[in-house]
Amino acid sequence: MNTTKPILKTQHVSVIYNEGKANEFTALKDISLEIFPEEYVIFFGPSGSGKSTMLYTLLGLQKPSRGAVYVRDRDSATFTERERGAITSSFFGIVFQNFNLIYSLNVEDNVMLPQVFVDVPKADRRARAQKLLERFGIATRRRNLPNDLSGGQQQRVAICRALINDPQVLFADEPVGNLDSESAHTVMQTLSEINHKDKKTVVLVTHDASYLPYADRVFHFKDAELTKVVKNAHPVRIEDVPPEAAAETDTAAVRELEEAGGAPASLTLPALRAWTLTRFLSGELTTKQLRRLETCMGLLLKGDIALDDFQTCLRVSFAKGGVGLYAGTAARYARRTGEILSAVRALERQADGKANHAQKRALIRALRRFVLEDFYGDLSQSQIAHVEQAITARVHKELTDDQFVERLMLPNEKGGAHLRPVSAERLAEKLKVILASFDADYVHP
Ligand code: ADP
Ligand code: MG
Repeated sequence: MNTTKPILKTQHVSVIYNEGKANEFTALKDISLEIFPEEYVIFFGPSGSGKSTMLYTLLGLQKPSRGAVYVRDRDSATFTERERGAITSSFFGIVFQNFNLIYSLNVEDNVMLPQVFVDVPKADRRARAQKLLERFGIATRRRNLPNDLSGGQQQRVAICRALINDPQVLFADEPVGNLDSESAHTVMQTLSEINHKDKKTVVLVTHDASYLPYADRVFHFKDAELTKVVKNAHPVRIEDVPPEAAAETDTAAVRELEEAGGAPASLTLPALRAWTLTRFLSGELTTKQLRRLETCMGLLLKGDIALDDFQTCLRVSFAKGGVGLYAGTAARYARRTGEILSAVRALERQADGKANHAQKRALIRALRRFVLEDFYGDLSQSQIAHVEQAITARVHKELTDDQFVERLMLPNEKGGAHLRPVSAERLAEKLKVILASFDADYVHP
């Protein structure tokens, strides 16, 4: 282990929720800790002791009320928004208890998702995703939807997604909390391997004492305080994951998961939509802004606020509880969100069988407007008509995503739109956002 300089450090960090209000609550009290490169550490403690808050503070998702967080010697308060964004997407990877997968995208697309907003060509993304999926024994399931997989496999998909941008630190917040013991074991193997083989720093949050022997060091949390740090003289090493591990044995777990109602309850359709749309709109926002945008989006999708209010939320300054966008950007986001939502609603009507002919045509037109937004002026009438036909075929599932892209690239006389590959990919990506926001299984359980 390289113990020269910590990769992460906190000095006298306190986190006080709702400070100065009647419901003020101290979640972390004066925490100073150091985590070194290539270490495997565990934050251990009972529920409510502040472990997740500690994790989110290290990630930069939670601002400390007192004290400072250092990432490789840099006080994280000094990061520019750009740097903060780059760190969150490429220096840190994170895995959650509820997997946080998008259930209407297949396994491969879920894994590639974090690369959508970094400039990696789709073919490279796919190759990278394929490699990770092979390595963690789920490559044969890459075209499946997450719900076809067991909980353990889904969590490994989430781990692949967390690794796709090759982060230095992998955070895992109760990653096996929703899994049966066999799947949990495979996931723990995976984390262990990522630490000792890939030499990545791993920070695991757990309240389960049985995992403590795996870590190099265990940080014990109790009532918002770091009570002790225990070093394991000989951390137990779990053996590596065999190729295509547990692909069969996990089928029992699939059934269990289905019987238990499928996806975890927190992954509701509105939550998924808020997640997808937010990330789509907001490549350039800070993490703090993202969270707030997601909240506003959630309210809009629930019908608690109207599109006008949504636009106001986006525009109001961050200090006053808004997202803090420029008025022009807020208007653009609101308009695009409105377009996506009307397309999604139209898709729902169609799935209900309630859409009449005019509504179906309006849907295709809305989708076309949305996906072609950046292209207008560059395309001929016949190209536009062919894009529209391709969208219709894609919406009716007559084309796969790949076939859709191919169709867009075909020459005009063959019914294509003669788009360059880059444009075709971009257009397909946009359509996917809408289709991902629409999942009939969630609307009609
Ligand atoms: P753990 O992960 O150890 O279960 P958390 O860090 O999630 O603990 O929470 C620590 C305490 O802080 C809990 O009592 C929790 O209810 C409280 N808490 C967490 N997030 C918030 C928040 N956003 N606002 C107010 N209290 C919070
Ligand atoms: Mg927690």
